[in-house]
Amino acid sequence: MIVANWKANGDIKKNYLWCETFQNLLDKSSFNYVGISPSHIHFHQLNTFFKETNVMIGMQDIYIEGGAITGSISAEMASADGCSFCLVGHSERREIFNEDGNLISKKISSLLKNNIKPILCIGESFEEHKAGNTRDKLKSQIIESIPKSYVLNELIIAYEPIWAIGSGRTPEAEEVNSIHEFIKDVVQSATANNIVPKVLYGGSVNDINASDFFDEDSIDGALVGGASLDANIFANIVNIYKRLKKI
Ligand code: PEP
Repeated sequence: MIVANWKANGDIKKNYLWCETFQNLLDKSSFNYVGISPSHIHFHQLNTFFKETNVMIGMQDIYIEGGAITGSISAEMASADGCSFCLVGHSERREIFNEDGNLISKKISSLLKNNIKPILCIGESFEEHKAGNTRDKLKSQIIESIPKSYVLNELIIAYEPIWAIGSGRTPEAEEVNSIHEFIKDVVQSATANNIVPKVLYGGSVNDINASDFFDEDSIDGALVGGASLDANIFANIVNIYKRLKKI
């Protein structure tokens, strides 16, 4: 799966041009594994545009309940509007909004209850990377985020080293592959029904480096921030994925 994370970007006019361009660059079968997460206010625009296709439109965040929570939306509201997936635990949410494993776990439960696929984002800081603590950090993020009260049937993880996000720096694809194998093992052992998750890589993916990542067996796709704002580049990434994964 290739997922666009538009963060706090976009407006009605730009989005429309993006959608028109993107649609014209890909054949319909490529839409089966594309997800786009625009801002909440543009969710409906994107969902309506891609209504007759298999492009999945998701959200970047939800809160665990509705009601008296000014400025938030609930998983129930997102689901009623046709949201099919939602990012959880993005490092920007963890850092800027102080989200911890306990809240992330509740968000995952709330999404599952409302039939929305969670994409759990995990990743280490540069200091943790340098100190060789990446695997310990990822393991603890996974264990604290997996809801104890749910049997998960499906989980998508996005491995996003914080130091690679928006920086133009990326780890070696082989190293990412080995970390993805580790993540799959940890999730398999931590879930009652031993699920093996799909693991996406995120952090400065573009149409120049995408093939290095998609050549690796345990890299099941990408979460793309900055490069997804350009419809041409994002479509190139989707086409590279399709070619290398032979879908
Ligand atoms: C992200 O923030 O999820 C991300 C992957 O960003 P970028 O591609 O810009 O590094």
